Amino acid sequence: MEFSYARIAQRNLARSKKRTDSAIGLENQSILVRDADIWNENGFTRGSILIEKGRIKRIARRIIDNGVERINASGLKALPGLIDVHVHLRDMELAYKEDFATGTAAAAAGGFTTVLDMPNTVPPTDSARRLVEKQKVAAQKTHVNVGFHAAAVSDSHEIESLADAGAFSLKLYMPGPISPFDVEDDQTIEKMMRAAARVGTPVTVHAEDPATTENASRADGFEEAAEARSPLLESHAVDRLWRIQKKTRCNVHYCHLTLRSSLRKISASSKSTSEVTPHHLLLSKKLLPTLGWRGWMVPPLRAEETRRSLLKSTLAGLPSAIASDHAPHTIKEKDQSASKSLPGVPGLETTLPLMLTLVNRQQMPLSLLVKLLSENPARIFGLKSKATLRKGADGDLVLVDLKKKSKIDSSKFFSKAKFSPFDGFKTQGAVHSSIVSGKVVYTEGEIVTREGSGSVLRSGSG
Ligand SMILES: [Zn+2]
Repeated sequence: MEFSYARIAQRNLARSKKRTDSAIGLENQSILVRDADIWNENGFTRGSILIEKGRIKRIARRIIDNGVERINASGLKALPGLIDVHVHLRDMELAYKEDFATGTAAAAAGGFTTVLDMPNTVPPTDSARRLVEKQKVAAQKTHVNVGFHAAAVSDSHEIESLADAGAFSLKLYMPGPISPFDVEDDQTIEKMMRAAARVGTPVTVHAEDPATTENASRADGFEEAAEARSPLLESHAVDRLWRIQKKTRCNVHYCHLTLRSSLRKISASSKSTSEVTPHHLLLSKKLLPTLGWRGWMVPPLRAEETRRSLLKSTLAGLPSAIASDHAPHTIKEKDQSASKSLPGVPGLETTLPLMLTLVNRQQMPLSLLVKLLSENPARIFGLKSKATLRKGADGDLVLVDLKKKSKIDSSKFFSKAKFSPFDGFKTQGAVHSSIVSGKVVYTEGEIVTREGSGSVLRSGSG
């Protein structure tokens, strides 16, 4: 079957034009999802879901529709919409890598109905004014629900303003701050954590010691570069942040951890949460000679043994969440020597199929997948009306064909970043449709909403 991005884009454009006339009153649109296997805490129950005005109105074995739009979900599993708490949608001055429309189209195609965007953009999201500006731009373009993390700043007043403007967290990037911040000084971090705790905003951290990451920038090959950023840098940073965090009442979310020891440490505290990525779970550095720049991200891929123990810990339920760390770049920016190649890989369109493959192989229970990709992310970031399929909850869900076999093919991505370390991976389990606030956004290979049909979320407002 011929399947090109340009062709899809054209089709979507035609479709979105067609839809513009009927777009008035879209907010009141109702949809009936018929005959799905609907997820609940005990497993699946066959039935139908009626969504009205963006919320689930009713779930029952049979619902008589009165002329509302219908979607036949017979043979499909209905899961709560997935939430990716760590994505880089770029846009603004980095829109050539990804923009809010393409990034959130990729999210919908991957089953994610809500994403939280990271602040290391140009300009960085380091003030309430810049956060509001980003929210405005995103509102015009997003296909799904999108919220924003802000950069960690040392000014307590700015932290208050960022919280008021709806920032979901303050991101502390230890290898090199996003906005001027003395990451080497414990007291500066402690003061920031105290201020964040006062306004009830969590701190998200990239825990890698800044002192020695510089070695990596002198490496020739990707394997050597990965080795230079050793697991010790993570252990040191986690230990240090842990000590500082304990003096405050701050909630800290540790991003993309790669070591079982880190996960164990963090799981012991109710104030700390953790996330792991599909690439650290499924790929190791022995693949780097083949993958090259396609497998370059930070923290880097680890030794096979480390990867295995991370996967084992994850299957045992140790981390709080799985996040894609979707980090698009152009191929020109990637295809360089290890010291110059920009770290990061796209992940929004591969995460769910890869995890469903583990479910099909009986390695991961579906309940764990829902917990790590929806329930826990909602809990950690206060998205109270999401991650559940019951009356009154937000009408965000993903319809999954659990048996469908497929192959990862980055040329089909909606993301502008058309490469993946998982290219060619065989998967079982695919997204059929993604529904956001009662609107079908993605179905059977196509984005069917116009740009801006999604919503901007502000922390603390629901
Ligand atoms: Zn990231």
